[in-house]
Amino acid sequence: MSDKFDVIVIGSGPAGYVAAIRAAQLGLKTACVEKWKNAEGQGVNGGTCLNVGCIPSKALLDSSYKYHEAKDDLGIHGISTKDVKIDVPSMIARKAGIVKQLTGGIAGLFKANGVTSFYGTGKLLANRVVEVTGHDGKVQSLSADNVILASGSIPVNIPVAPVDNDVIIDSTGALEIDAVPERLGVIGAGVIGLELGSVWNRLGSKVVLLEAMPNFLAMMDQQIAKEASKILTKQGLDIRLNCRVTGSEVTGKGKKKTVTVTFTDADGKEQKEVFDKLIVCVGRRPFTQNLLAADCGVNLDERGFIYVNDLCSTSAPGVWAIGDVVRGPMLAHKGSEEGVVVAERIAGQKAIVNYDIIPNVIYTHPEVASVGKTEEQLKADGEPYNVGVFPFAASGRAMAANETAGMVKILAHADTDRVLGAHIVGPSAADLVQQVAIAMEFGSSAEDIGMTIFGHPTLSEAVKEAALAVNGHAIHIA
Ligand code: FAD
Repeated sequence: MSDKFDVIVIGSGPAGYVAAIRAAQLGLKTACVEKWKNAEGQGVNGGTCLNVGCIPSKALLDSSYKYHEAKDDLGIHGISTKDVKIDVPSMIARKAGIVKQLTGGIAGLFKANGVTSFYGTGKLLANRVVEVTGHDGKVQSLSADNVILASGSIPVNIPVAPVDNDVIIDSTGALEIDAVPERLGVIGAGVIGLELGSVWNRLGSKVVLLEAMPNFLAMMDQQIAKEASKILTKQGLDIRLNCRVTGSEVTGKGKKKTVTVTFTDADGKEQKEVFDKLIVCVGRRPFTQNLLAADCGVNLDERGFIYVNDLCSTSAPGVWAIGDVVRGPMLAHKGSEEGVVVAERIAGQKAIVNYDIIPNVIYTHPEVASVGKTEEQLKADGEPYNVGVFPFAASGRAMAANETAGMVKILAHADTDRVLGAHIVGPSAADLVQQVAIAMEFGSSAEDIGMTIFGHPTLSEAVKEAALAVNGHAIHIA
């Protein structure tokens, strides 16, 4: 086998594997290097997303929601259940099965598309040479006209709560807890903290989230964030804002170990809480360890991300970088889109990523989803806008499903009516927000959405009604 490729991708997360497949589809001779290995020492594709991120967290969210629904929520439909039990090891095993199936699927896709897989650590040397150190320690040298760096990100650790993978865990450890902890602490009430906190809250843990920021979900539209906060608090999540963790101490032995967390509360007073498990979810940082030789020509920015321009070109000719390891939201679909665009650019096409329209979802129940500008951003930009809001309480379909919490909010330009953003907390928010994202890609006005016929009765009608409300025409609100 030749060691010369048109494209070598380092990393097979959702950014890297998608780039590799698209490059191969375009007729480019492509290799993908991946260092992840399973407990048996075999190479595994899929990165954070498939192994310890998007997919396993959603598997646990879905299992835990079904348990909660069967236990507490079906009575209103006239369905009685008793002795509903959760078998945590079975739940975790189901999740592992899904991960195995999906990560194995990538190997199948690589084969079908003619992508050559290398398992080991890839290091970029000068002149687009990639040195691969296999899991067996053997080193081989590959080269390519183009190299795509897609090495992803890892959780941020904080010295005040060092992860011991026992009592103090990160998001990866939180996907492997084998029994429901009585008291669960979560440092960070962001997307991952809320999702993982929800899983264990539904299964019976008393969950306390300690968040340093004064605003809940500060990056989201604040009207939606406030509504989400109300709903999640009602579900039992104890969300404490403006709380800064200053220390932690693990005591006890074996299964009796606990951690005492010290923090200053919103009034500046020192507090202590004892937990059986503590999840540290304070963000993720770009991962470039052992990736770049000193003379490879790739620069990092001041925050440690690989520096790229709008087209994902690095400072070294023919070297590109995509996904979590570069600026922009750390989301799987953002990385995948960058992967497609870079592969197409390498093949001579003129693709671009529209960074203005990237949906963002929190998979709590109900989901919280957004796309485009928030009301706060429009205010700060001095952009004139109109707002349309439609509550799910006024949706017949939401009532039928007993899912009336939340609302759809659409923001449109005051002069042109062009849709600038959509923010939803409510049932199927992730799928509903996508309808507005499509409309935004086509430069739709709120009136265009309002004039589209939506099936009845659907949750989607809330999107239509919110769009109508932008111009004061909603039918089903007084
Ligand atoms: P990664 O998925 O991190 O993949 C990078 C890959 O590169 C890894 O496999 C790594 O082993 C490999 N690698 C690194 N260095 C080298 C090297 N030198 N040689 C060879 N291989 C190397 N995002 C969403 O959009 N939706 C969600 O619902 C969602 N849920 C999440 C839940 C959790 C708990 C977590 C932790 C994350 C979640 N994310 C979610 C974020 C998502 O997982 C990331 O945005 C996504 O995985 C980034 O993709 P990537 O390809 O850039 O990097």
